[in-house]
Amino acid sequence: MLIFHSLRLARSSMPARSQLPRSALTALATRTRGLASAAEPYDVVIVGGGPGGYPAAIKAGQMGMKVACIEKRGRLGGTCLNVGCIPSKALLHSSHLYEEAAHGWGPHGISADNVKIDLAKLMSHKDKTVTGLTGGIEGLFKKYKVDYFKGTGEIVGAGSVKCHPMDGGAAQTLTAKNIVIATGSEPAKLNGVPVDEKTIVTSTGCLELTSIPKTLVVVGGGVIGLEMGSVWRRLGADVTVVEFLDGIGARPPSASLDCAAHAHSDGTNTHTHTHIEPSQCLPSLCRARLSPDARAVAPVAPVGGPMDKEMAKTMERIFKKQGMKFKLKTKVNSAEVLPGGGARLHLDSVAGDKPETLDADIVLVSTGRVPNTVGLGLDKIGVKVNKRGQVEIDDHFATNVPGIYAIGDVVRGPMLAHKAEEEGIAIIEQIAGKGGHVNYDTIPGVIYTHPEVATVGKTEEELIKAGIEYKKGTFPFMANSRARANADTDGLVKMLACAKTDRVLGIHIIASNAGEMIAEGVLAMEYGASAEDIGRTCHAHPTMSEAFKEAAMATYDKPIHF
Ligand SMILES: Cc1cc2nc3c(=O)[nH]c(=O)nc-3n(C[C@H](O)[C@H](O)[C@H](O)COP(=O)(O)OP(=O)(O)OC[C@H]3O[C@@H](n4cnc5c(N)ncnc54)[C@H](O)[C@@H]3O)c2cc1C
Repeated sequence: MLIFHSLRLARSSMPARSQLPRSALTALATRTRGLASAAEPYDVVIVGGGPGGYPAAIKAGQMGMKVACIEKRGRLGGTCLNVGCIPSKALLHSSHLYEEAAHGWGPHGISADNVKIDLAKLMSHKDKTVTGLTGGIEGLFKKYKVDYFKGTGEIVGAGSVKCHPMDGGAAQTLTAKNIVIATGSEPAKLNGVPVDEKTIVTSTGCLELTSIPKTLVVVGGGVIGLEMGSVWRRLGADVTVVEFLDGIGARPPSASLDCAAHAHSDGTNTHTHTHIEPSQCLPSLCRARLSPDARAVAPVAPVGGPMDKEMAKTMERIFKKQGMKFKLKTKVNSAEVLPGGGARLHLDSVAGDKPETLDADIVLVSTGRVPNTVGLGLDKIGVKVNKRGQVEIDDHFATNVPGIYAIGDVVRGPMLAHKAEEEGIAIIEQIAGKGGHVNYDTIPGVIYTHPEVATVGKTEEELIKAGIEYKKGTFPFMANSRARANADTDGLVKMLACAKTDRVLGIHIIASNAGEMIAEGVLAMEYGASAEDIGRTCHAHPTMSEAFKEAAMATYDKPIHF
């Protein structure tokens, strides 16, 4: 890889890498870009242009690598931009505006008669948002000289990827020093429930409905089900959520991180990293600064699993107040589309003693997502895939075949766009010999309903299970002046800190702006903050964020306003 030889040569005659500013490294890398010619293999070929693949491609281009990205959808941005995060958030925002105008302005003395929905226009706003953003990524590819291939990628061997063009032309073989699999995920199927994307739909079909259903049954009370259920409830549908578990809001699925922790000494303390080499230990991330008690918590449980129970119960109450119905501890045995329209579900209690049927105009199946490896040729070249269909990787995203890496939804960890993006950047930095790193202990998760639910770190149940002594501070938005002024008081901030060290271990927020507010918590946890660090940080008044500070104060002392 010419670029890296150049970097290595440069290293011997220049100040140590750590002494070079980041911009100088980038400039150095960019200068060497010209050495690669079209006949040479790519430094990296990325299969999949979603939030894992496209930032990886851009990063590689920015670092001067010769890079190609193969995407079979015909549009960049993956699930997230095309049929996931972005279109769902457009519908959530539009439907929230409608609900506010129709029912939410009363406390402010404002009423609007005859508030109407133009569903076609609402959908067109969503579509325009998607087109604009996906087109924007194509622009960035051009800017950073990423070769974009529209087609299906098939890995035919280490260092060789065949692209089968979308337009049906002859396949083209790309040679590559490194291959990154970023093929994402697709909706999971439910046995006995035949999806036709018209009456029985996945999230993809649910984003495209052409009329507002009178009744919608959501199978699965996780993030996607609650978000899509909220959209159509706000627009007028009678929504029932059927959930197998005893509670709602399962956090994004996460396989075991399966990473062998290794210990090393930095001269002050022996400590454990799960994802980085000792040589790449960054002082800002190093748990050695923290007491052994606080450190021991981090690797206990991966992100994912059930939501904090107190928050899940609170949200269930709020959703019920909004008119959503729930059938918990209920399983769906089968479903069929009815000849006269709509669908019938055959349900039973989990215990199997209450069989019943439930009819709906539309059924949304949102029972999770599965990794997407179909047609990639992994079996032929011997890349290991685990029981859950995930490509197996080590702590550095490497598969068992040298030179082939994998990131994003197709590997272990929470199925989230920002997790995929972090991994996309990290793998490119690692290929470039830099210390790319993802801290899986501080990946936030958000449900974008109203109010929103945001979480980072451990739940109370996880701490109890791990036998960690903790302190808990909560602060309700009912006691927050800005929330009162906004007449938007549903929710609370809950903070969990180590009883011995006061290090923050988990933050859970229900608030209209929880998805933005959690960033403060993520940053605090990334820097190993204590609850007192947050409680003594000045927050502007009057803001919802003051509740964040007061929850921190409640953790080690008392809040002022409650
Ligand atoms: C309705 C919905 C809402 C969501 N909301 C959020 C949210 O608010 N926040 C959040 O963080 N996450 C959200 N997610 C999850 C998020 O979309 C995914 O975690 C994220 O897109 C994963 O990124 P990825 O790059 O790993 O995979 P993907 O986004 O799935 O991208 C993979 C790409 O690879 C392409 N591909 C697959 N196989 C091949 C092949 N052989 N050759 C070429 N191309 C191939 C696919 O066409 C796809 O475009 C949501 C998902 C859904 C469905």
